[in-house]
Amino acid sequence: MRAYLIKWYWPEEGGIQISEHFKAGEFFCNSPLKPPEPTPIAVELIERLELLRTEAGNVAIKVNSGYRNSPHNKAEKGANNSKHMIGCGADIVVAGMRTEKMAELAYKVGFRRIGKAKTFIHVDITEDEAYWCYLKTGTKTMSFTEMINKVIV
Ligand SMILES: [Zn+2]
Repeated sequence: MRAYLIKWYWPEEGGIQISEHFKAGEFFCNSPLKPPEPTPIAVELIERLELLRTEAGNVAIKVNSGYRNSPHNKAEKGANNSKHMIGCGADIVVAGMRTEKMAELAYKVGFRRIGKAKTFIHVDITEDEAYWCYLKTGTKTMSFTEMINKVIV
């Protein structure tokens, strides 16, 4: 099991710039029920997102969901071992880009766990390699190429 360098941010530290283009608060749990707990954010996740931003031509990346605490993850019906709960995963949108292209660029900058939805992609930095699509019938794991080519309605 790899170790991940995690930094922790308290709620009042949301304005802290954690990299050139991201603030800590963008990764805070957006559950309305969140307790005043610190948020874990993996340094490597942010580094890769910066690479992705550059690769996309310096287009802003919107973080739909970063850290999720356990109750929030349950409410969202997230996986029991969701990487959002350890600060290693994010659901993101690159403005004006199709999710196929987002997934391709994510791969290019080194992400090896990528989920593609109709309007966003999930990326995380944990060690195994997996690609999947979020379909109406549920999450379906497939090869990278199948994931890229799968049309999501
Ligand atoms: Zn996700």
